[in-house]
Amino acid sequence: MVSLNQIYKYTPAKIKKVTLKTVKSIRKVRATYNTDEYGVHQEALFKVVATTIPRNVVVKLYGDPKLKNIYQRPVWVHCSCEWFTFFCEYPLTKRRSSKIINSNGQANREKNPRQWPYACKHIIAVMSKLPKIKFKLAKMKAPSDEEVEFMLNEIDKYIPGAS
Ligand SMILES: [Zn+2]
Repeated sequence: MVSLNQIYKYTPAKIKKVTLKTVKSIRKVRATYNTDEYGVHQEALFKVVATTIPRNVVVKLYGDPKLKNIYQRPVWVHCSCEWFTFFCEYPLTKRRSSKIINSNGQANREKNPRQWPYACKHIIAVMSKLPKIKFKLAKMKAPSDEEVEFMLNEIDKYIPGAS
């Protein structure tokens, strides 16, 4: 996995300039602790509005949550925009820092021949917001009465007299 520092470093200067000029609003949708195949992480979802429709940005921070500089932590990112789809999804997925969701899963040899792990303006825009985000522990849903009855029946089946 790459870090946000690395992604920022590889992002073309042109994109960083466009970020400042065009991104109008960033709204945090959700920020929670989560676990997936890469382990425990803090996951933040954003709606980012620039020049066209709102884009969905996901950032997952892995590694030590106590690390002061979050930009050094291994990261997973995704954005629903076309630019990310065509130029970023494949190179980042290759480094386990994203997933093939919208692209055809093939390298863009013409526009990003070296497959640098860079990001779109929407992801660049949310970077500055990340240090202030408070991540919540995801709430566990209490089981329904039916689920409780099912579990008690199961216990009875396998451990007679347990309930
Ligand atoms: Zn984007």
